[in-house]
Amino acid sequence: MDNCIFCKIAARQIPAEVVFEDDEVLAFKDINPAAPVHLLVIPKQHIDTLSDATDAHTALLGKMLALAPKLALEHGIAVTTAADGKRGGGYKTLINSGPNGGQEVYHLHLHVYGGPRPWRGLG
Ligand code: 5GP
Ligand code: ZN
Repeated sequence: MDNCIFCKIAARQIPAEVVFEDDEVLAFKDINPAAPVHLLVIPKQHIDTLSDATDAHTALLGKMLALAPKLALEHGIAVTTAADGKRGGGYKTLINSGPNGGQEVYHLHLHVYGGPRPWRGLG
């Protein structure tokens, strides 16, 4: 898509701190992080919003979501389990869709936030 900032990042036409790439998806650091770790996972193909994804994109969406715990491990924000079973660590995954969903960049993306709280503006 012309003039899509995330398509340009996927095409490596503008720089980003890329943390994962395969033939279908790209993950990179958010330019204005809202948490100590704030990553974005995008499909390389342009899809405006989650509402524009079709049944043909089900595996792609699954891949994007399944990448989150792997990135979390690599970036020190994975969910942990202590010997007594108590959970620690952790992260938030979020997709904003449309104006009322708070979407600002119209190329589908999954946010992965983590690290010690508090985080700016997030529940
Ligand atoms: P949205 O509100 O659309 O869900 O989130 C868009 C996110 O993209 C924001 O967190 C914003 O900081 C991030 N972002 C916008 N432009 C760029 C950019 O050029 N590079 C990177 N790395 N992140 C961006
Ligand atoms: Zn795009």
